[in-house]
Amino acid sequence: MARRCCAESENRLLSLDEALARIRAAIRPIEGSERVGLKQAHGRILAEDIDASIDLPPYSNSAMDGYALRRADIAAAPDVRLKVVGTSFAGCPFEGSLGLGECIRIFTGAAVPEDADAVIMQEDVLREGDEIRLARIVELHENIRPAGDELKSGERLLDRGKRLTPADLGLLASIGRTDVAVRRKLRAAFFSTGDELRPIGEPLAHGEIHDSNRYTLHAMLDHSCVEAIDLGVVRDDRAAIKQALHEAAKISDVVVTSGGVSVGEADYVAEAVGEVGQVDFWKLAMKPGKPIVFGRLGEACFFGLPGNPVAVIVTFRQIVRPALLQLMGVPVSPPLRLHAVCRSRLHKAAGRQEFQRGLFTPDGAGSFSVVGCGAQGSHRLRSMSQANCFIVLSAGNAGVEPGETVEIEPFEELF
Ligand code: AMP
Ligand code: MG
Repeated sequence: MARRCCAESENRLLSLDEALARIRAAIRPIEGSERVGLKQAHGRILAEDIDASIDLPPYSNSAMDGYALRRADIAAAPDVRLKVVGTSFAGCPFEGSLGLGECIRIFTGAAVPEDADAVIMQEDVLREGDEIRLARIVELHENIRPAGDELKSGERLLDRGKRLTPADLGLLASIGRTDVAVRRKLRAAFFSTGDELRPIGEPLAHGEIHDSNRYTLHAMLDHSCVEAIDLGVVRDDRAAIKQALHEAAKISDVVVTSGGVSVGEADYVAEAVGEVGQVDFWKLAMKPGKPIVFGRLGEACFFGLPGNPVAVIVTFRQIVRPALLQLMGVPVSPPLRLHAVCRSRLHKAAGRQEFQRGLFTPDGAGSFSVVGCGAQGSHRLRSMSQANCFIVLSAGNAGVEPGETVEIEPFEELF
């Protein structure tokens, strides 16, 4: 990276894929872990391998409400009578043993006695006093979940690096774990730049707007694996921006800003990053989101996003999101994209890849329709708010007629 804007990328538009490849090559996952209780572990990245410390299930148990019996008693003649000699409840096992021609009443999850080797469901049984008659033959081991059937003690339960889901937390609880080592949270500092920005809650003077990007950015960074650090608004002043970048880098792994990355007279972010660290200034063949700064501030990564509110969201989702996942040490897969029949006319000039805002609906049978969300200017945050997907149009595309098939990227939870 050059200290100032790269001459190479100043003239040439970089494709999104090229930008992503450069970021992939430049980023290493953060190190460090902490122990947290299970309730705090949802969505965190496991920092240890976990082996089962007990069998799962820990004891042989019934999969049904019914009767536990000895299969040999009924093998020859299903129409036998068996004597009910006890009951096994979940949490209150039958402690006796089964003799010839005997069975016990049993409920789902209750321990199956050692002498029993099949459970017949109650719907297949005729109860007569303390005896039962079977309506059908039952197979050996039928309706019994043997001890260790799911997992044997000592077997691998979860691998390091896995993002913990509700099912994983249930698994950890089922082997009695109270806490786990997870990767420490990523520290992400962010601030807005712009002399026109006024905090929410204060009246606007002529020429001022509320700082909305910081709230969008905060919401996008609000994630179980991220500690989002809000550094407020910084004026369009080179020294102030340098100072803010310096402070941000000291307390974070990644710094994200909005605004001030164009080539206007008040756009100081790229210069300031070049003076505090290293900068790579890109003009991307992407709309919205043409100018973007990627760089390094000491140990921290830097992303300078454009100021236009829609561009902030598009560049965050397409560029910052995969970078954050890589910093967290999570495998990064490309966004889910589907085909949809476009029901509206979309205007586009050939040249840049576009992320237009769309509203898709399932048509049934696995197909989708999509319409554009009206005017697509990158300052129109409302189009983004109304949308539920991006319509991803390739650089070469020169507009879409109703009935054509397009690629859509449904909005999902950020990670
Ligand atoms: P800039 O990238 O600084 O040239 O800003 C581009 C456009 O985005 C301008 O219209 C700004 O007023 C607007 N903008 C910049 N920062 C913000 C912000 N934090 N919240 C809302 N709009 C912003
Ligand atoms: Mg600005």
